[in-house]
Amino acid sequence: MTRPTAKGWCPGAHRPMPSGDGLLVRVRPHLGRLTEEQVLRLCEAALRHGSGLIDLTSRSNLQLRGITPARHEPLLQDLHQLGLLDADPAVEVRRNVLCAPLWRDGDETACLAEELTQRLSELPELPAKFGFAVDAGRQRSLVNASADIRIERGTNGGLILRAEGAERGQAVTAESAISAAIALAEWFVRTGGLVKVRMARHLHHRRLPLEMQQEHPAQSADALIPGPLVCDAFDAAAVYGVQFGRIPAARLMALMDRSGAHALRVTPWRLFLLEGARAVDVAPFVTAPDDPLLAVDACPGAPACASATVDTRAVARALAGRVKGRLHVSGCAKGCARPHSAETTLVGSEGCFDLVREGCAWDAPERSGLLPAALVGGTECL
Ligand code: SF4
Repeated sequence: MTRPTAKGWCPGAHRPMPSGDGLLVRVRPHLGRLTEEQVLRLCEAALRHGSGLIDLTSRSNLQLRGITPARHEPLLQDLHQLGLLDADPAVEVRRNVLCAPLWRDGDETACLAEELTQRLSELPELPAKFGFAVDAGRQRSLVNASADIRIERGTNGGLILRAEGAERGQAVTAESAISAAIALAEWFVRTGGLVKVRMARHLHHRRLPLEMQQEHPAQSADALIPGPLVCDAFDAAAVYGVQFGRIPAARLMALMDRSGAHALRVTPWRLFLLEGARAVDVAPFVTAPDDPLLAVDACPGAPACASATVDTRAVARALAGRVKGRLHVSGCAKGCARPHSAETTLVGSEGCFDLVREGCAWDAPERSGLLPAALVGGTECL
């Protein structure tokens, strides 16, 4: 089965998306980094204008939840003062630039991401979900993160530009990489890619020019895990897991204070990194790499999302550690929390769950009508 059609746009700060609990206002931090002051004042804004809940998205963005229409404009003013708002809504829509989280000042990842951000106006009109990944560290870290055009490391140690879905990329230099990325975006549009929306889908129907598929990408780095981070980019740092990607603003303020952090970096893996921080226990943040909740994906479900009829996260919490392999609990067949296969997927439907094995939320279920109470209580075995 194919995935149900997503809305043709993504929420931003200027153009928030209505949800079951109010407006969703998305913030896209530059290079995925916020200073201590930005973090604290963003948390205050989330509490003052909304529900005080902030979602960490799979594209390293932050989403403030529960904003009422009357508080949207005051929130924009706060974001502007914090340097977290693009003055031009058109630039905000285009700024889909994912950055490898362990960049250092002046390294190729930081410089290329900055240059791409400055040259966004040179890109053709692209689908709202079309994005770029700048992943120029010694090893690639964004392999499993969503992107359509990637600047990354090749097997010979140089930079390559690679279209998502292609096994190989084109050799580029730090000087030529962004111009080549713009040219690849133009090729996507010129060859009819807008119909397919995403690069990987387009490449099922259209062959890339040979010069764009010469070099294999380098190996990928070990995944970040919660706990103290030993890395030459920082004197001290700690990584924290975020259950279901949801950050309670008041708890994050407490964590910033207790850990001694001076900046926060977002990642696309429901983890964030605190620069200059000790690893301290502040609930609900995860500091143990083997925490069973890290193997579970669950969208907001009911009542936060109007498309859901089930409380996804209550079921996900109850089943964490009781199901072998990856568990995905989805409020409906759209599968927002995990657009990939999982060993076990539960899909909400009319107050019950369907069960999909080794598939996605939109695939055909092998069982239907599972009662949430029976799943939580353990009387229904998966
Ligand atoms: S998957 Fe979840 S968040 Fe996405 S539309 Fe369905 S219920 Fe809402």
